[in-house]
Amino acid sequence: VDLPERCDIAVIGGGLAGLLVADRLADSGSVTLITRGDVTSATSRTSGIVACGAQDSPARLLLGLGEERACRYWQWSAASGASLLDLAAELGVAHTRTGSWRVALEERELSEWSTSLGLLNRWDPEGPAGWRAASPQDLENIGTGFVGAVFVPGDGWLDVAALCAALRGRLEGRVAHSSAGARLVGADDSGAKVLELGSGSRLHAEVVVIGAGWNSPAVEARLETMLYPVRLQALRTEPVAAGAVPVPVLARHRFETWCQEPGGELVFSGCRWAEQPEMGAGISDCEDRSAAVLERQQEFIAAHLPFAGGAAVRSHWSGIAAWSCDGLPLVGTLPGDPRVTVLGGWGGAGLSLVAGAATAICDGLTGRQGEGAPAFLHPRRML
Ligand SMILES: Cc1cc2nc3c(=O)[nH]c(=O)nc-3n(C[C@H](O)[C@H](O)[C@H](O)COP(=O)(O)OP(=O)(O)OC[C@H]3O[C@@H](n4cnc5c(N)ncnc54)[C@H](O)[C@@H]3O)c2cc1C
Repeated sequence: VDLPERCDIAVIGGGLAGLLVADRLADSGSVTLITRGDVTSATSRTSGIVACGAQDSPARLLLGLGEERACRYWQWSAASGASLLDLAAELGVAHTRTGSWRVALEERELSEWSTSLGLLNRWDPEGPAGWRAASPQDLENIGTGFVGAVFVPGDGWLDVAALCAALRGRLEGRVAHSSAGARLVGADDSGAKVLELGSGSRLHAEVVVIGAGWNSPAVEARLETMLYPVRLQALRTEPVAAGAVPVPVLARHRFETWCQEPGGELVFSGCRWAEQPEMGAGISDCEDRSAAVLERQQEFIAAHLPFAGGAAVRSHWSGIAAWSCDGLPLVGTLPGDPRVTVLGGWGGAGLSLVAGAATAICDGLTGRQGEGAPAFLHPRRML
């Protein structure tokens, strides 16, 4: 589809957020998808773990948000993750729905998870759904040095690269596309938003949806005080014993996560705390890899995952995720500007949030009745 001078909706960002929004809106008007080839997406660097909730355990979420909001957030994220896995099934993309372990390395985190278990049972609308504390045998199977764990059903893993490829294929011929990047420069007399593309040309759009990850503030300066980049780092080992990690594991408030890919490789992400004091915050160069983080990751594997202790590291990489200033995602229109919508700020948990956010935004733009996103995720809270 040729690039027009005007369109109904401009979607900015070629990661999972942008692709999902473009896919859902493609048949509801003229849509232009604008990506930027020289800014690597977090989506292309992800480990692929779909695990509901936030960085924090439900007990901490409750302390930060109060019970009503914490419950809503948890349920929304669980439904969002499930819908992403449903989409993977629909598109024939490899995925699992094994559930996940949330493991604690110290008593304090374990006591939080014990409280969380009670909350989860209370929050599940259909009654206890299989949340459970790990038995000593479970813990032994997970690894060594863990003081406890909670099983969260419904979580899983997804081949994100394959999902994005399938979405890009499905978009062909349905949306116009430019890979030149764009930034918002104002509005025309009719109120339509004006975007300046990297090619120098201009695009007028009735509505703009920004899903440009950590680089979203370069699209719209008002996001500068709301989002910032954080470098996350991961490694992949040579294949380890089949079934060594039957379900994804998230440890220490998600600071460390690991899963086993279908080919047997262990993918381990985390230890950004190895670089003090910034812990990866403020780093936006995804080619910048920390030797200290890699070292701590290998130490963690040697200390806690005996089945992978001798496995060679085949590759390691960084990616830049977008964090919001209060740790919660931004889903909704910019305050005072109903023609500009943003979705992002997922931290390290984007895969369990992005599908729900895309649905909520697209329902809002097309006037469909839907569940919407929790109101407290609206960017107006940043004012
Ligand atoms: C190493 C690593 C491991 C991770 N593991 C997990 C995990 O296991 N589970 C999980 O839930 N999450 C994980 N995440 C986080 C997850 O990958 C992200 O939250 C999610 O992919 C973000 O998607 P997004 O589309 O919002 O942003 P991105 O994927 O960053 O996409 C943003 C897009 O916007 C484009 N762009 C930027 N600027 C412009 C511009 N001016 N104009 C046009 N386009 C622009 C970029 O080119 C990019 O394509 C991980 C992240 C990293 C880095």
